[in-house]
Amino acid sequence: MKTPNPITGNILDVNLSEGLTEQIPTERYSEGVLGGIGVAVKALIDRVDAGVRPLDPENMITFNAGVLVGTSSPSACRTTIASMNVLTGGYGSASAAGYFAPELKYAGFDSIFVSGKASRPVFLFVSDGKAEILDASHLWGKTTWDTEDLIRQQFGDQSIQVLSIGPAGENLVPAANVMVCRNRSASRCGLGAIMGSKNLKAIAVRGSGIIQVAQPESFVRCCGQHSGHLASTNTAIMLRRYGTPASFPQWNEIGNLPGKNFQTNRLTEKGALNFTPEHLEEKVIQKNFGCFSCSIHCTQLNSIKSGKFKGTSGEKLECQAFWDFGAKLGVETIEAVVKGSTLCAELGLDMNNATGAISFAMECYQRGLITEQDTGGLKLEWGNEEVIVELLHQIAHVRGIGNLLKDGAVVAAKTIGNGSEKFAMHVKGQDLAEEFRGLVGWALGIMVSERGGAHTTGAPLAERYSVSPERSQELFGISTASDPMAYEGKAELVVYYQRFHSALEALGTCFFSSNWIGAEMLGPEDYVTLYNLAMGTNIGVDDLMTAGERIHTLQKLFNIKHRGFSREEDVPQDRMFEIPPNQTNTKIGLDRGKWSKLLDDYYALHDWDVKTGYPKPECLSRLGLEVHQSILN
Ligand code: SF4
Repeated sequence: MKTPNPITGNILDVNLSEGLTEQIPTERYSEGVLGGIGVAVKALIDRVDAGVRPLDPENMITFNAGVLVGTSSPSACRTTIASMNVLTGGYGSASAAGYFAPELKYAGFDSIFVSGKASRPVFLFVSDGKAEILDASHLWGKTTWDTEDLIRQQFGDQSIQVLSIGPAGENLVPAANVMVCRNRSASRCGLGAIMGSKNLKAIAVRGSGIIQVAQPESFVRCCGQHSGHLASTNTAIMLRRYGTPASFPQWNEIGNLPGKNFQTNRLTEKGALNFTPEHLEEKVIQKNFGCFSCSIHCTQLNSIKSGKFKGTSGEKLECQAFWDFGAKLGVETIEAVVKGSTLCAELGLDMNNATGAISFAMECYQRGLITEQDTGGLKLEWGNEEVIVELLHQIAHVRGIGNLLKDGAVVAAKTIGNGSEKFAMHVKGQDLAEEFRGLVGWALGIMVSERGGAHTTGAPLAERYSVSPERSQELFGISTASDPMAYEGKAELVVYYQRFHSALEALGTCFFSSNWIGAEMLGPEDYVTLYNLAMGTNIGVDDLMTAGERIHTLQKLFNIKHRGFSREEDVPQDRMFEIPPNQTNTKIGLDRGKWSKLLDDYYALHDWDVKTGYPKPECLSRLGLEVHQSILN
């Protein structure tokens, strides 16, 4: 008899062109990659042929719940969405916390794969082992929030969990995201546009199944101990009170903000005074809450009580909203940051990509490369809050200058020309979200991310939180984790987090419960124990990290198969080797020679060729991925 475990064993495979749904076994794609994102990337590399473009019906988009999702394992709640990246043409994925993925498990599925294109707008309703493709004409044109409300009303069930796209996704805007459970965004990579290209407005799930584990008593005890510990950490206490914006002043202090499209790296004095956690608490935070099975509760409900944006109410304001609207666009009021973030959630817009395009346009306006004649009369001045709100609408609805900005800075620069290309900040074609000149490992993690930038696939926060050299050695095998400008040891640190993050995502666990966000949080050995108690296995930390390595290597192979990305795409743009003019940190700034050596070290650690950055045949055979050798030929 099969040992009880939390994997349902079922993938829902949907072909929207044919209007067909079928059930296939999860084990077809899970060997050696745990589950969740591992299953997704294995299926994508097998099923999406070279030459397929992201918005083609032949592309596939996958929605995945990791191995531990649905159990009481701390914060095992994330939904990972994986497909192609609309902006890079290579690998794309994003994940969101909340309640969708546990409900998918209770409905009897580990993943949903969707390919083809429906002939009219549809949504998918998945419930207790069954799936229906339903008419979504009444939802088309609605915001993500209205879509969620209308679906719940339609079924008279407030417990249905929904992920959906807004107008941006319907209009195939590459900056479109997928919103999960109202305010959790699966952003980056334009995954909302892929749903839009399939005429798929939403997926709704409801389940009454039970998730089993191999050793229930020990598992529940272990989960309880970890949850109690996590809740009591200083990291969790800060997150619970302020959310991730708690760290924002520190980013400003070290001079690591993407000010005015990366022209500066610090806020003005007024901005710095306004964007403190205490000010946030006083002005907008109403209450805090959490996701499924999480004791950290990092989410706040925000509401603007006065001024021109009065009445705006949203959840889950991230530190990134302050980078994107506060620093990148020169905004200096909390209210405008909340407004921008909330509007993006409703429109289904990825704020990183949308503000990337807007900040590029503002710099072009600043330099006279575009004028009010090009913008329909809008003054694209830094910090112009009303204009920013209007631009978000224009991008999502593809009107006015939104026609130019919807495809991101790189494509817009091709139209504007006149040397504007050097101000289009990007990684592999996707708009660059994060400043990184003040943190070497952070820079490396972002540049080599297979999904085209973004910091949640290997960029280490350990450079920003304080770890003694001894503790750094103990955790990561290097002594320099908290020395932001040290090059030594940073390739090792990034490789560690690439593998650990991939494994965490395959388990469906939020990174905020891991040592990514604070040294006192859970490490690989804790997750291995949880995995073994849940699965009835006896794997070790090395096995977990190797599974992470395998998942990461498959993402790399997907990029090579579809775009041929090599070493060249892992080097920052010229501006990122320049010193920002307002910096006060004399240690800041990247060095080309040292960067080249850092890449050599990074590729060598992966057993990849240092000239091309491609995996060597020995790497593939060590990981049991020889079958993909032809991608490299
Ligand atoms: S840490 Fe925050 S985002 Fe992560 S699961 Fe908990 S409440 Fe959700």
